[in-house]
Amino acid sequence: MMTPNELRQRFLQFFEERDHRVVASSPVVPQADPTLLFTNAGMNQFKDLLLGNETRDYTRAASVQKCVRAGGKHNDLDEVGRDGRHLTFFEMLGNWSFGDYYKRESIKWAWKFVLEELKLAPERLYVTIYKDDDECFDIWTQEMGLDPARVLRLGDIEAGDEENFWSMGPTGPCGPCTEIHYDLHPEYGPMTFGVGYDEDRINEIWNLVFMEFNRDEDGTLNPLPMKSVDTGLGLDRAAMVVAGRDNVFHTDLFTPIFQSLFELLGQDVGRDLDAFYKSDNFTDYAVIADHVRTVTFAICDGAKFANDGRGYVLRRILRRAVRHGRNLGFDAPFLHRVAAAVVEAYGDIYPELRATGQEAAELIRLEEERFFRNLDRGLELFEDAAARAESEGKKTLSGQEVFQLHATFGFPPDLTEIMAEERGMSIDWESYESLWKEHQETSRGKDMYADAAGVGDWETLEEGPANTFVGYGTLETHTTLR
Ligand code: ATP
Ligand code: MG
Ligand code: MG
Ligand code: MG
Repeated sequence: MMTPNELRQRFLQFFEERDHRVVASSPVVPQADPTLLFTNAGMNQFKDLLLGNETRDYTRAASVQKCVRAGGKHNDLDEVGRDGRHLTFFEMLGNWSFGDYYKRESIKWAWKFVLEELKLAPERLYVTIYKDDDECFDIWTQEMGLDPARVLRLGDIEAGDEENFWSMGPTGPCGPCTEIHYDLHPEYGPMTFGVGYDEDRINEIWNLVFMEFNRDEDGTLNPLPMKSVDTGLGLDRAAMVVAGRDNVFHTDLFTPIFQSLFELLGQDVGRDLDAFYKSDNFTDYAVIADHVRTVTFAICDGAKFANDGRGYVLRRILRRAVRHGRNLGFDAPFLHRVAAAVVEAYGDIYPELRATGQEAAELIRLEEERFFRNLDRGLELFEDAAARAESEGKKTLSGQEVFQLHATFGFPPDLTEIMAEERGMSIDWESYESLWKEHQETSRGKDMYADAAGVGDWETLEEGPANTFVGYGTLETHTTLR
């Protein structure tokens, strides 16, 4: 079985053998792209090449890219710990053609890599394509020999359905794509691969995007001067499937992070992992493990905790992790020590971590210390409020309490929402939002609350309901309150 290290190496080697230039990962904090909160795909650093605004001395590239999906168009923060497939930090293996090869070669090589290198069984593989991409359909069915019943047409951009039409953000390069999926549970029996298929069972591993358009501000799709290919194979998901697992957290990628938690908690570092994966509080460990990777990579790449923008996303992620740590029994800063384990585990692959790791761990320590100061009192307030609501037969937490937890104890509302959901409760957002507005209108109130627990004037970057998203241009200032 291939280890994650071998996976990275084999991928790069495979494409190097096919004349691709191996390019290093760019930082997770985008360097020159104001439209992006975090690097969310391998193609980000090649955006200008794809748009035809830049040329280099190569037309084929391959890389292993550090990605964070916790804001903007690609935001998976709320999936972490709820399914076994989404992480806020992950690595993306990718290969590119900049006006060089197109659909045929990219499909042929991906298929070869999946069958011969990852050694996945063809009877467990399925493919989706964009609805009217007949060329793609023919390549899969006639040239690769796939049974047409394994190829599903999805998406319809005119009708607003962006399945199998990939874009980096609301503007920029985009195009139809074809995705390779793996059946994690063939033992569930025969199934029809159709619209509404079970994504927990049929898990996407690789996306091949055919970059044809540049979408402008008003949504118009302008054809690009040349056709390019942009692919992304999730390393964590690839590691999962080659290991015969059905959860990304059950891979070697997370073992050193879990072991660091075991050590800090005084548990047996060599404890049986399969039993651990099934244990009741595994989700606490898993969410911490995801979040600490995200925070460590981002801070090492130069991000800072803050009350707005990127820094606020990181602050919220850290506070979620700390609160899961509290569930495990930590009552003082611990995450910075797990961050050190992340640096240790990834330092050979991403040497930049070693350069800034210590400084990052110190920033993380200060940040968690700040939240720990008020954590227990906040948790108590939440417990009382939830118990009171329950005793009154209510299933919602009032805005007043969510507001107080936020303003006085530094519990971001999205964290309170998770805690409420864990108790089968929801939040009265309307009353929360009106309190928040009131508070914002009185500048004195603003000052009063600004420092209580490091929560001041803040904005969020999440997508609105039902996958609508707010433009990247306004991403630091939009109005949704959670
Ligand atoms: P999904 O449909 O599972 O959310 P996606 O279509 O959003 O994935 P792409 O944007 O196509 O993902 O990214 C390319 C690949 O990166 C995916 O096929 C998957 O292997 C991996 N990937 C995407 N999001 C995540 C994530 N949150 N955690 C781990 N791997 C991911
Ligand atoms: Mg996704
Ligand atoms: Mg998808
Ligand atoms: Mg995809």
